Amino acid sequence: CGIIGYVGDRGDTEVLEVLMDGLSGLEYRGYDSAGVAVANSSIAVRKREGDISALESALDGDDVDGTAGIGHTRWSTHGPPSDVNAHPHTDDDDRVAVVHNGIIENYQPLRDDLESRGYEFESETDTEVVPHLIADALADGCDRERAFRRAIDRLEGSYAIAAVFSGCETVYAARDSSPLVLGIGDDGHYLASDVPAFIEYTDRVIYLDDGEFATIEPDSVVVTDADGTVVDTSIETIEWDP
Ligand code: GLU
Repeated sequence: CGIIGYVGDRGDTEVLEVLMDGLSGLEYRGYDSAGVAVANSSIAVRKREGDISALESALDGDDVDGTAGIGHTRWSTHGPPSDVNAHPHTDDDDRVAVVHNGIIENYQPLRDDLESRGYEFESETDTEVVPHLIADALADGCDRERAFRRAIDRLEGSYAIAAVFSGCETVYAARDSSPLVLGIGDDGHYLASDVPAFIEYTDRVIYLDDGEFATIEPDSVVVTDADGTVVDTSIETIEWDP
């Protein structure tokens, strides 16, 4: 299972191409479904049970464009492999799309509470509580970053999570007990479970630690701790034999 994210402007190379290359680079980790979300003024989500070629067929001729995107390969833990249970997952109004690797241990009470307050779930996954928690925080007046942090703060378990919002050129990410690494490129910034997802684009990386958050924009990457304090990160140049 794995996560890829990208923000930036690769000239004539589309965001979608970076995401699909990233998913191919993560195939070795195993998966049962794959999907992508690309944010623009709205969010386009495409996802399929099966291998990446099934997702590629679903995208055939599709005009998905934007400057921020996330992709996911799923190894299901909650809900069987299916198109609906594949990631990304969205809120009721499609304002946010979320991918997740890991297990949210307390998803059932969170889901019960959200459903009792009118939020509608489509999948059987533990993950789907996250976009609804973010939507709930937005409804309370939080800005996007605050809403993302508030949702993550509610989770117990293991996670690498990334989210994109409609109308926003930012990927938000957080991790606890699941790996995430940032890639610093000349033409944008990358996020992945592991380096092979973006090594063809950049070899300069920042490894996130447990409990850290990242706000990834075309021209900046900011890593913060659980309290919101900016973490002093160092960029490593890695050697990799593809
Ligand atoms: N627990 C989540 C699910 O079943 C994520 C699984 C994964 O790590 O891919 O959808």
